[in-house]
Parts: sequence; structure tokens; C-alpha cells
Amino acid sequence: MFCYQCEQTAKGSGCTKSGVCGKTPETAAAQDLLTSELIALAMAAGENPAPETVDLLAEGLFLTLTNVSFDAARAEAYAAKVKQARTALGGKGAAPVPNSLFQGERDTVSLRSTLLFGLRGMGAYRYHAQVLGKRDEAADKRLTAALAFLGAEQAPEALLARILEVGAANLDVLALLDAANSACFGVPAPAAVSLTREKGPFILISGHDLGDLAMLLEQTGGSGVNVYTHGEMLPAHAYPELRKHPQLKGHIGTAWQNQQDEFDGLPGPVLFTTNCLMPPKASYADRVYTTGVTDFPGAARVEADAQGRKDFSALIRRAKELGGYTQELPGGTVTTGYGGKALISSAGAVIDAVKAGGIKHFFLVGGCDGGKSARRYYTEFVKQTPPDTAVLTLGCGKFRFNTLDLGSIGPFPRLLDMGQCNDAYGAIQVALALAGAFNCGVNELPLTLVLSWFEQKAVCILLTLLSLGIKNIYIGPSLPAFLSEGVLKTLVEQYHLHPITTPEQDLKAILSRP
Ligand code: SF4
Ligand code: SF4
Repeated sequence: MFCYQCEQTAKGSGCTKSGVCGKTPETAAAQDLLTSELIALAMAAGENPAPETVDLLAEGLFLTLTNVSFDAARAEAYAAKVKQARTALGGKGAAPVPNSLFQGERDTVSLRSTLLFGLRGMGAYRYHAQVLGKRDEAADKRLTAALAFLGAEQAPEALLARILEVGAANLDVLALLDAANSACFGVPAPAAVSLTREKGPFILISGHDLGDLAMLLEQTGGSGVNVYTHGEMLPAHAYPELRKHPQLKGHIGTAWQNQQDEFDGLPGPVLFTTNCLMPPKASYADRVYTTGVTDFPGAARVEADAQGRKDFSALIRRAKELGGYTQELPGGTVTTGYGGKALISSAGAVIDAVKAGGIKHFFLVGGCDGGKSARRYYTEFVKQTPPDTAVLTLGCGKFRFNTLDLGSIGPFPRLLDMGQCNDAYGAIQVALALAGAFNCGVNELPLTLVLSWFEQKAVCILLTLLSLGIKNIYIGPSLPAFLSEGVLKTLVEQYHLHPITTPEQDLKAILSRP
């Protein structure tokens, strides 16, 4: 096997014997085959792909993300379904040979990999929007065309242009997802989320799929079973249509890489709606349920019916059997819900605070978390930000600092949680609104993006930021193994991309920049 798509890749270069994530060589081979079939289907789909074809492409791309699917048989069956769809479209010939993407001249392989991994992230966001009933024909065409583009030899310049085009197309997909979330669950508003664990049975829900949470809340109403969010589900508490359910009690746990410790001994079942799933340990494997794209061989699954409805009664029964907490475990609170719409509706107050000198600089410290000790950088960075600066955050990287008391700045807390990685659109809108208000470009704002990356949604968001011409982004904890020296040099020269150093050094450089 060969896989180097995520930040924890073996020896910083590639997983070859088995995945650090737990992906087996069999699953890696099946997912490579699936990727080849997806490219072939995109080629057969032509310039006007049917919505169902793009549904198949997006779900298939999502399935190959890090920490989503560990089941070789499922990837094989999905590849067969994709092949069937290609045949039905009259697609001729064979799919490209699996892994041929990763062979050849170094910079070209790097660019092809960047394009593929960005497309995997875009496919994931497109899937999230589609399960909430939203598709965008133009974005669908761009996704399909970019995937088909990988089916032929391409010059490095053309690959780089296509990478930026995927970043730009992803902005439209993120906008679609943002609209879908608000249409289904209301406009998110600032909310305090309890970390107290109440007495009684409960279900913990993880991943990013708010539609699954909505269905779970409908079905647990009046059942006596509480619901807590885990990981990237934390921002769900900001949505009025989710928050209104009294059994949605609060939040348990931190970022994905801590789940094996946090679930050990948990007296309730856990539902994984999307990434980031780790191989369950034997001590809690019988309490893990998966749904949607996410799976692990042997873990119980909840499948959707033809209308997309899911029956969570098995989890409710299991929660009652396990009994939950026998007494209350008190905890504090964290805040969330400072997404794009909430901040833009308070834009006047933010602009006044900047003009009056109350907010000197904005940092967006966000992205994925992960296991490496070097990620302590982000906690230290946030701790060291001066009191006249605001820290925006999103993604699961926030769990490294979201319980810190940073105080407040003007009418706002200094630490503003904008939501999931899925909510990157809101963050971009805030940056554009500030640039509009100050009559300058985003690069001239007192705003610095300090990103932590782990998987392919983050890769795609980075491409979106680059496509918008945003410069001086700091990125860590290490650089993607799939960026060759030549490609990295281009990104550094054109976009002033900075690998993180130390919080002290980076903060000094950022705050002294004219
Ligand atoms: S997803 Fe990451 S950890 Fe898993 S096999 Fe690929 S590079 Fe390795
Ligand atoms: S932000 Fe990235 S690493 Fe974190 S849970 Fe979401 S997809 Fe996984």
C-alpha cells in the first residue's frame, strides 16, 4: 500500500505497511481501486453530469478520507457500483490503474496528489450539503471535470491551475452547505454549552452530520435518554432547531485523537455520523454505532431507508441497558455559535472596536487536531496572543484551547468559536466583510490565519483560501508529505505560506508586520 494523504503519515513520508490510522493494506487497495473507478466515472459523465452521478462521486470521495471507512468489502462493493454506473453511461475502456496517480515525476505527482486530496475534501462537503437536500449544478460540473482531469497526463501548470479552480469551486460548495444548515436548523447564535454529565442514560453523537443529530433528537424526545455531542458536533448547540430539544444536554470529550481514552468505560453508546473515527478498542467496541459514510468492520451500523430516514431505536435501547451516569458529574461550560452570520450581524460593534483600537489584530487559529505533541504550539500560541487581539477558531483544533479563559474584548469573548471545519464559509465571509468595511483587501486586514491541518477537508479549505489570493497563512504542525520541494517553493513564493516555528517567533513576526 502507499498512502500519504494525512498529517500523521508514517515517518512523515507515507504509510506503506499499514496505515498509522489503522487502515489495512486490503482497505487501502480497495480504496485505490475505488478512486480509479471514480475518475473513470467522472470521465464518462462528460460535461453535464446527472445529479445522481455526482452523488455517487461525492460519497465515494468521502469514503476514502482519513478516518472515515475502514471496511475493504464496502469500498470494493462501492467500486463495483461506480463501475456499473460508468457502464450504464457508455463509459468505455478500463479505469486508470490504481496508484498510477502516485508514480512519475516528483512535482507532477505532488500536484496530482494535492488535486486528488482536495477533491476528496470537496466531495465530503458536497455530500454534507446533499444529505440536507442541496446541490449546485455548476459546482457539480466543476467537481466532475476536475476528477476527470486526473484521468489523463497533465502539465504541471495545468495541474496547479486546476488545483486553484477546485479551491474556488469548493467555496461554492461551502456556501451551499452553510445555506443548507441554516435552512434546516435555523441561524446559529452564540450559546454556552454545558460540560456537566447529568445522571441517567445517554447517547453520545460524534462526527459532523447535523441531520443525523436532528433525527436522533426527534427519536429520543420523551424517551428518558439524554444526548451529548462529541468532537466536531459541539457547534450543533448553536442551532435553534437542535437546541430546542431539552434532552440535548451538553458536550462530552475533546478532539478525535483522544476518543480511545475518552470512550473507555463510557456508560453509553456512541454514534459516529462521519469522521473522525478511530479503530474502536475492544473495551468499548460493542458500544460504537456507525452511519452514513463512516464504518468499521464489526461495528453496528444504522442504515438510511429509501427516504433517508434512520431508525435509532437500537441505540436508545442500548443506552437504557447501559444505564448512563449514576450521578451527576459537574463540569463547566464552553461557548460556540460565533459563526459568520452571528459576527456579521454584530459587524458594527466589531468595526467600532477595531477603529477605537480595542481590537488590534484578529487571529484565526483553526483546523484539525491530531496526536502529535508539536500541536502544543496552538495552545501556547493562543495563550500568548495579546489581550487586545481576538482569536477566532473552528474545527476540532479548538479543543486545545477552548476551555481557556481569555477574557473579553468589547462586547465579545476574546475566543470566538465559529463552528465546525464545515463552517469555514462563515469565517471567509467575516474576513470579506471586514475587508469591505475597511475598504481594503483581506491581505491588508489585521488578520492572520494560523491553521492546523490533519486530513483532506483541511487540504480543500487551504486550496479555497489560496484561490481567494489569501497570503501569509501559517500552517502546521508539519507540512503535507505530498508537497514536493518544488511545489512548496511555488506556494511559499506565490502565497507566502509559512510553516509554523514557535509561538513566540511567529507572533513577533505577525504583529510587527506593517
Ligand atoms: S490516511 Fe493517513 S494514516 Fe491512514 S494510511 Fe493514509 S497517510 Fe497513513
Ligand atoms: S476538523 Fe478535521 S480532524 Fe477534526 S474531526 Fe473534523 S474532519 Fe476530523
